[in-house]
Amino acid sequence: MERKVLMTPGPATTSRGVKEAQVVPDICPREEEFGRVMEDIREKLIRIAGGDENYECVLMGGPGTAGMEATLSSVVNGKVLIINNGAYGERFVKIAKCYNMDFKEVVFGWDEEINPEKVEAEIDEGVKYIVMIHHETTTGILNPVEKISELAKKHNCVFILDAISSFAGLPIDVKKLNVDFLISSSNKCIQGMPGICFIICKKEELVKLKEVPKRGFYLNMYLEHEYVKLKKQTRFTPPVQTAYALKKAIEEFFEEGAEKRYGRYQENNKILLEGMAKLGFKKIFPDHFEESGLLTTFFDPDNKNYSFDKMHDGLYKRGFTIYPGKIKEKTFRLSNLGDLNIEDIKKFIEELKKVMKEMDLELISA
Ligand SMILES: *Cc1c(COP(=O)(O)O)cnc(C)c1O
Repeated sequence: MERKVLMTPGPATTSRGVKEAQVVPDICPREEEFGRVMEDIREKLIRIAGGDENYECVLMGGPGTAGMEATLSSVVNGKVLIINNGAYGERFVKIAKCYNMDFKEVVFGWDEEINPEKVEAEIDEGVKYIVMIHHETTTGILNPVEKISELAKKHNCVFILDAISSFAGLPIDVKKLNVDFLISSSNKCIQGMPGICFIICKKEELVKLKEVPKRGFYLNMYLEHEYVKLKKQTRFTPPVQTAYALKKAIEEFFEEGAEKRYGRYQENNKILLEGMAKLGFKKIFPDHFEESGLLTTFFDPDNKNYSFDKMHDGLYKRGFTIYPGKIKEKTFRLSNLGDLNIEDIKKFIEELKKVMKEMDLELISA
């Protein structure tokens, strides 16, 4: 099989082993054997998040957004404060609106860092839940999860963290960070196939969901969890082959080791940034901003020969997929998470150089 490199933040590049793990004999997901696969996945995901026997994991078929929607709609039973500094924070706001929730939003521009004092000023008596994004994939900024988790604790709020693009790519410890609900999905830093979202949560918080009026059916975390506990199978048809791929991806995570996985991503990023600077591309963030090292946003060069589409198409032909920007300024994004190593990144830079030549694009490097 031809190897393609996705420099997109999900789906991410997967290993051959993960791709092949999807080819399994047909199996009915109501069989015990499959139930054990799912149980194993749930336990290991909890371990990766630093949880223990006081944590549960709810798995569902669906994109990461289904995990966001399942969490908000199953958990929130009062006023929720949403921290919004990008498209994913904004997505929580859209979900809250669809469900007619009592919500408050604290908005920050992409070019400002989240100010915990400004967040705290918005936590009034009524606020019972705080929602934030760990790694805002819109830009690549890393949000101050420790500070916000302290605020949540201080004000007795349930803390909901979207770690969709950081889980298994950056160290996260649900116990230390006192996260009540952590959301992620199968196709980002865990390096599986798209199709499964999961929520790692405190057992004591999960049982409380029984009392929350049901707003949905399929996406209700409590209904799903109760059924799985009782029957050792999911309520509805899960993406069977995606689950096998996820099982394999988790094995590969443990084979590589958490520290090495995080280190590989940061090394990829370092090589990428050096290469891009040499070619004359400028990052949107000044150095003092805390970036994830998983994804970087660059300004479109101010040059008449530049065209994102041409650059994309040239790279795509050469096996590399890149991503447009998501903010109003003209930008594009490069991600270095997934089954990639520095050789891939070096090759990417070489190929980009060739594409630039084809475009007659020459930039002044820093
Ligand atoms: C990718 C992502 C999502 C949702 O992803 P989909 O799978 O496309 O629904 C949510 N939050 C963050 C921070 C993400 O990076």
